[in-house]
Amino acid sequence: MRGSLLVDNIGELVTNDGRGGDPLGVRRDAAVLVEDGQVAWVGPARYAPAADRRIDADGAAVLPGFVDSHAHLVFAGDRAAEFAARMAGEPYTGGGIRTTVGATRAASDDELRATVGRLRAEMRRQGTTTVEIKSGYGLTVAEEARSLRIAAEFTEDTTFLGAHVVPAEYADHPDDYVGLVCGPMLAAAAPYARWIDVFCERGAFDVDHARAILACGQAAGLGVRLHANQLGPGPGVQLGVELGAASVDHCTHLSDADVDALAGSTTVEWLSGPPTSTVATLLPGAEFSTRSPYPDARRLLDAGVTVALATDCNPGSSYTSSMPFCVALAVREMRMTPAEAVWAATAGGAAALRRTDVGRLTPGSRADLVVLDAPTHLHLAYRPGVPLIRQVLHNGVPR
Ligand SMILES: [Zn+2]
Repeated sequence: MRGSLLVDNIGELVTNDGRGGDPLGVRRDAAVLVEDGQVAWVGPARYAPAADRRIDADGAAVLPGFVDSHAHLVFAGDRAAEFAARMAGEPYTGGGIRTTVGATRAASDDELRATVGRLRAEMRRQGTTTVEIKSGYGLTVAEEARSLRIAAEFTEDTTFLGAHVVPAEYADHPDDYVGLVCGPMLAAAAPYARWIDVFCERGAFDVDHARAILACGQAAGLGVRLHANQLGPGPGVQLGVELGAASVDHCTHLSDADVDALAGSTTVEWLSGPPTSTVATLLPGAEFSTRSPYPDARRLLDAGVTVALATDCNPGSSYTSSMPFCVALAVREMRMTPAEAVWAATAGGAAALRRTDVGRLTPGSRADLVVLDAPTHLHLAYRPGVPLIRQVLHNGVPR
């Protein structure tokens, strides 16, 4: 859409501009001018420049669009029965991933594309304007490349997760599967992927396999991220920091050494350039949906670790696409303040994707913003389960 657009009469504007000791950079009675899909100006409403069009926020809160830095959207089928069994007492082991692999391999391109499109639209209605999408339910050379090719139609943050689980046909010789992932599968996936990821967990890939796969991905030019320390303690978090991962995700079971390693990685003020620290991405939808203890966000924040929140949207362990739900869980169950949770769901997600163009509303950033049906960001946690997203602008275009 051409021309300028003024979002005016904003009661509370969350900018995440990092100035003045307030992490959210809140401004009152503000306006935002959008031109060519970018934020062109932010300031007091009374000084707002003229524009071709106007959106009246009517005193409501406006936030950067949510940045969901961890989602598995390329799949077929669902696992509602597995969820019901789990709620009746069965533990979560990650084994159900293979069920989804079978359904995904049997689906057509158009079926997969329709599912990603449906979930992407569902996310946007709930305020998400940036999403990372992983492969990981194909687990053959052709299937992983296909999943990433479809994911790339929806986002620039695509992640090769061939090392999600060892597929059934390699159960007796996992070393051969690691060789396949590092060789022909990576070669076929890399043209469509920005990131590489490994599920480093007992029952999935051990630390030696994870290190080998991530090193191959780095050599192919992909950035590193990692599923680690979800189901129990382990070496995954420290491996991620050692390899300079953008993010280690889950972080539910951490030792003091894990927390120290993450805190020690926080060396660069990310607002002044591309961030280089390893972010701890917490996925409380997974603990909710597997009835597991939540990660200790307070411990990470108090140690100075950069924390992000994401949905982990997938058909097995966390079938939510709602960042507001994750914010509410983080506040109620993980002792984050509402401000910390909103920062983690916006600027934190951007840091986890090493992006400086999203997750904030400052001149030059992408004009991705959310107008709430509420006077303040506090309502996202205070009114859980309520549809508070009144309007979304994505690339400056009202949706
Ligand atoms: Zn995941």
